[in-house]
Amino acid sequence: MNIKSYNFQNKRALVRVDFNVPLDNKGQVTDDTRIKMSLPTIHKILNDGGSIVLMSHLGRPKDEPNPQFSLSQTIPCLEKLLNKNVIFCNDCIDHKSISVTQNLLPGQVVLLENLRFYKEEKLGDKDFAYQLSKHGDVYVNDAFGTAHRAHASTSVIADFFPNHKMFGLLLQNEIISVEKVLNSNQHPLTAIVGGAKVSSKITIILNLIEKVDHLIIGGGMAYTFIKAQNGSIGKSLVEDDFLSLALEILEKAKEKNVHIHLPVDALCCEEFNNDSPTKTRDINEIPNNEMGLDIGTESIKLFSNVIEKSALILWNGPMGVFEMNNFQIGTLSIANAIVKATKNNAFSLIGGGDSIAAINLFKLADKVSHVSTGGGAMLEYLEGKELPGIKSIKSS
Ligand code: AMP
Repeated sequence: MNIKSYNFQNKRALVRVDFNVPLDNKGQVTDDTRIKMSLPTIHKILNDGGSIVLMSHLGRPKDEPNPQFSLSQTIPCLEKLLNKNVIFCNDCIDHKSISVTQNLLPGQVVLLENLRFYKEEKLGDKDFAYQLSKHGDVYVNDAFGTAHRAHASTSVIADFFPNHKMFGLLLQNEIISVEKVLNSNQHPLTAIVGGAKVSSKITIILNLIEKVDHLIIGGGMAYTFIKAQNGSIGKSLVEDDFLSLALEILEKAKEKNVHIHLPVDALCCEEFNNDSPTKTRDINEIPNNEMGLDIGTESIKLFSNVIEKSALILWNGPMGVFEMNNFQIGTLSIANAIVKATKNNAFSLIGGGDSIAAINLFKLADKVSHVSTGGGAMLEYLEGKELPGIKSIKSS
């Protein structure tokens, strides 16, 4: 079922959104990005002549109501963005809320209270999912951020809508973007992986090796690969338990004809500190009292060259400690190379955690093809796992 061709006229759409937004201590939304991102789906349903029941979690309440985590705090922001009144139900499954949603008129919008006020939500409780299902004639999942969780509202509930379930526009777009990168025939396909640790990205790297033409490895994790090949990395970040796995990855890449690109130089200093004086060193000749906190100029050239010739690009993880000004150039240059490739018709996907923070910091998010909204969900997708929130919509 495709949301674009579905007609919501006179239908009550129960939509799982991700309104897990940051709030200040007065309960005001400080970043409305997630609410804004749900607007295309909301507008589609309203324009068709349907009504909407929105459900979400907010923060980490301890399985019971807590005003600090009430979704009522998002109502002013939502009403402003929609330019219409929103009805708030202060419980997500009580009789009162069900009678409100069963009598909705086309054009009306309801927001239910935080799903995680019930422990049953995270437990994926069937009966809780059934109670929630009473709110709608059709179920729409538009929350990519929780698609990797088998919770009641993200996955179990879909069973109660066997013929009336679909992805929202945001989630559909996320799926199309990842599938385009992971399962397309366009080449060259380049993945750029960075960040602190090899251990947290190992499954992703192993999955990507099966698919990519080029794998660029930067950031702190690169030093484990350099040390594994007997390079001197000084005090740089390293995971000694992963040295042999790093060699196995290099070997596997060779077998699969994947070109691995490691940094050839690094911007080094003596202290983990923005003001520590820097020197560019060959990557495998870092003195014992120094550490590499960014990739060097030659590595930037090498990586940019590969990126600019790519048709598909996936980026996950910064090239250095981009949070500190003096160690930002590597990550910024890679972001610029991706922007340049995108201008030349490459498709670029920025997925997961800190690379999203970096692309936002550099104000380049609108110059790449797609910036994913789901950190953990995107990482699991890239690892090749089937996400419960996606599986439950696809399965019949
Ligand atoms: P991750 O969450 O694994 O993607 O790691 C992101 C973090 O890695 C960021 O906070 C970066 O500051 C950090 N990072 C990147 N490169 C280095 C490096 N060379 N040394 C230490 N930390 C790094």
